[in-house]
Amino acid sequence: MELHVLPPGVVSRIAAGEVVERPASVVKELIENAIDAGAGKIDIECRGGGVEYICIADNGSGIPSDHVELAFERHATSKIGSLEDLTVVRTLGFRGEALPSIAAVADVELSTRSQDEALGTTLSLHDGRVVQRRRQPRSRGTTVAVRRLFQHLPARLKFLKSESTENGHSARVVSQYALAYPSIAFSLLQEERLALRTPGNGNVRDVVAQLYGAEVARAMLPVEHRADAVHVTGLVAPASLTRAGRGYLSTFVNLRWVLSPLLQRAVEEAYRGMLQEGRNAIAVLSIQLPPVELDVNVHPSKAQVKFANEQVVFRAVRDAVRTALSCSATATSALHRYAPPSEGRQSDWAIAEPEPQPSDSTPTIAAAETPASAALPPLRILGQALSTYLVAEGPDGLYLIDLHAAHERVVFESLLEQQKTRRVESQGLLAPLTLEASPAEAAALAELTGPLAGVGFALEPFGDRTYLLRAVPAALGGVDPVAALRDVLQELAGDSRGLTQERIAASVACHSAVRGGQQLTPQEMRQLVQQLEGCAQPRTCPHGRPTVIHFSTGHLERLFGRRL
Ligand code: ADP
Ligand code: MG
Repeated sequence: MELHVLPPGVVSRIAAGEVVERPASVVKELIENAIDAGAGKIDIECRGGGVEYICIADNGSGIPSDHVELAFERHATSKIGSLEDLTVVRTLGFRGEALPSIAAVADVELSTRSQDEALGTTLSLHDGRVVQRRRQPRSRGTTVAVRRLFQHLPARLKFLKSESTENGHSARVVSQYALAYPSIAFSLLQEERLALRTPGNGNVRDVVAQLYGAEVARAMLPVEHRADAVHVTGLVAPASLTRAGRGYLSTFVNLRWVLSPLLQRAVEEAYRGMLQEGRNAIAVLSIQLPPVELDVNVHPSKAQVKFANEQVVFRAVRDAVRTALSCSATATSALHRYAPPSEGRQSDWAIAEPEPQPSDSTPTIAAAETPASAALPPLRILGQALSTYLVAEGPDGLYLIDLHAAHERVVFESLLEQQKTRRVESQGLLAPLTLEASPAEAAALAELTGPLAGVGFALEPFGDRTYLLRAVPAALGGVDPVAALRDVLQELAGDSRGLTQERIAASVACHSAVRGGQQLTPQEMRQLVQQLEGCAQPRTCPHGRPTVIHFSTGHLERLFGRRL
């Protein structure tokens, strides 16, 4: 092909691709515009996962009629005027790219009215071009409706995941902005279901209650810390209250939601030694620093930022979280007033004292000489050691069995068998338990209720995001069923590898198996070893970690220098 300059339509679609990756990117950009416009209320609706329809309505400043077309010009913005302004950006937007990018990949209708105008303006765009303009009365603010996203970009459409996964991404975006802006009342309707509503009363704990449930909201510890020019505020959960998924750390820098490995490490460092392996902290942290200390212009969707002084920010965040956690550990009598607004009353809640847990370091694995499928020899159980392992003697040496890994394998194979034979072994609960799902969990449940029933979780919708748990897998090893279910949801919702029966069985097995630390009776030990002996692949857990480590007689003799 001859060298040529691309036509403008092609250029704008390429540029749009950087800003608009999926429906959630549209939701993000339009929410940012509403926030920049000073809205106190933002209502979001998605249909068809957001591909069919996204609508965002705000009660902000609106756009004056003679500026509406301009808003769709590339690099048209009311937010910065010069290069210097870029160093002190205080608004979420500044590139003037969102509206033209969205209009390049979808049909857009924007209707708006500013404070001092009598009539509003509605503009319809198709293929990035204005096809209709109307004036009509409306309330102050702006409503943007986006239809048929990526209709001309089949490659983009193909890359999108299922409706519920896309809704999960959008719900996450809305959740994060709701946390960052508790004085804005957000509502999110997905496929005609209310996924989230926040009161907009300025109390971030109330937003946490909506997202993660009242129990978490009550237990969260306040963070308030200043170091140099860095001010850190927010809420962190005590180390005793954790989640299996990773999405529970929300960080905002100058009220912008960012994903920052630096901030994540700072938080992990603060919790170091307190969290069990595979568990994550719940935290909402807002970091304020002078705009000159920050470069927000490093990423097309502005999801990443660059700090001028990373060390200072890292230390400030780590110390802020540490202080919050240690205050809770010493001030045992500290009471925090909190009642979710829906309960309509104030009451005192004692903060659960976090129990520092010893860090769970991964055992060094002896070279697996035996294939994973090799059967186990008959074993004589000697006892339980370090509360985590069974010690046993076999015809050729000593065996250490990891309780959790072994139980995981047993449950996994039993669930696989149940899925295959459709003979579900579940255990009815006398009284149903309730699960208050977060918006993302509720989106995942839309897809997972059926598959979860196949392994014994009987779930029934009960109100917007509440579910009744009526039965659980019979194999659930003395763990809290709701917590186990939540962990399974988080793991499967974030999994891009697709929902095979095996993935589901592995996840349920992992979160329902006995944890190390549980003391087994001799009878329970014998039963576990027997079940493990009956497994097709007794030597590894479903994740591939060993269940059994074998010290052969020869190996022991060499270790003791009895033999060379
Ligand atoms: P940016 O946010 O980077 O300025 P956008 O393309 O997102 O660029 O928006 C362009 C302009 O349109 C904004 O600068 C603002 O003036 C106006 N605008 C967009 N959305 C809204 C809204 N919801 N309320 C008021 N003004 C808006
Ligand atoms: Mg914008």
